[in-house]
Amino acid sequence: MKEKSKNNPNIKEIYKQLEEELASINPGCNTCGTCCHFDEFGHVLYTSTIETDYIKDNVEVPSFDPEKNVCPFLVNQECSIREHRALGCRVFFCNPHYKETLAEIYEKYYTMIKDLAIENKVEWHYAPMMQLLKEKEDNT
Ligand code: SF4
Ligand code: SF4
Repeated sequence: MKEKSKNNPNIKEIYKQLEEELASINPGCNTCGTCCHFDEFGHVLYTSTIETDYIKDNVEVPSFDPEKNVCPFLVNQECSIREHRALGCRVFFCNPHYKETLAEIYEKYYTMIKDLAIENKVEWHYAPMMQLLKEKEDNT
């Protein structure tokens, strides 16, 4: 039987390890929030159900218009859920010099998160975050 991740502490540990690794390379970000306007930036943010469960277990998802394709957690051009944001948010940096390194880091942590979902019998559904949030909103 599939189970829901309830505030899974292990995902927090994975994010902590990721943040330490990213800090060691420091690709730089001025937190302008531009990349959270997905259409404007030409960017699709993918994530997984175990990660959107983690967000939803910790913060309220605001109502949003999926047609606008702007992250609902962006408030005054700043991320309002930095502590709980997904792998794709954490690993994305617009600095092109780090593209390959960041792709490798993404792959490594994607695998860790997927393994965690499998271990915890959480359904693995990997899709654009806006779609997963919308599905969750529709199911509440
Ligand atoms: S969760 Fe935060 S970092 Fe991720 S897209 Fe939304 S506002 Fe941007
Ligand atoms: S990654 Fe780039 S576009 Fe995104 S918030 Fe940082 S500086 Fe702005």
